Amino acid sequence: MKGKDESVSEFEERLAGIIQALKKKYPDASLELRFQNGFQLLVAVILSAQCTDERVNQVTDTLFRKYPTPERFLEVPVEELEKDIRPTGFYRNKAKALRSCCRVLVDRYGGEVPRDIEELVKLPGVGRKTAAMVLGNAFGVQQGIAVDTHVKRVCQRLELSRAQTPEKMERELMAKIPRDDWTWFSNAMILHGRYTCTARKPQCGRCVMEPLCPFPEKNI
Ligand code: SF4
Repeated sequence: MKGKDESVSEFEERLAGIIQALKKKYPDASLELRFQNGFQLLVAVILSAQCTDERVNQVTDTLFRKYPTPERFLEVPVEELEKDIRPTGFYRNKAKALRSCCRVLVDRYGGEVPRDIEELVKLPGVGRKTAAMVLGNAFGVQQGIAVDTHVKRVCQRLELSRAQTPEKMERELMAKIPRDDWTWFSNAMILHGRYTCTARKPQCGRCVMEPLCPFPEKNI
């Protein structure tokens, strides 16, 4: 996972510098999705596919009052749920995913969100990214590093990993980043990718990791 011409110790030193710079810039990095418990965060993350967190928050502000439990998602007719989540896009698929997930939560887990990544990924539509995000942010359980599109892009540019799949990148990052930092690291990278190391035009001139970043197409 080290960069092209970098020794292991050079990589480790650079990684330590990156973590230090990130901690200074994002000491308490958290998600921008609003939630009050693990179930709400699970719903919000499912709704956030192909949608901004801002739009999801607008929808969930009222959604969570009307649907406080997994049981409630199953009671309300699917057409009504579709209407309630429509502004988040792909609402038919999302309504289906939410109901399938709630069905399993009710039938197998007594309506509670399991606090174990191996159990969480058994829920329909829940992959490691969603599971790690929910566990880390709602329960303080560090069992994975959520690798979303921002984490993937920023880590590739920083040459923290050249893995092409989120699964492989997560494994590589978990091997190098202290476990207590897993959730924070993912949250910080998401913020950095969203507002600084953006896909089309990274703001390298105001990036705290710029001196440690080997990305050849920096925008300074
Ligand atoms: S220097 Fe540029 S490419 Fe590297 S992490 Fe910062 S914003 Fe991204």
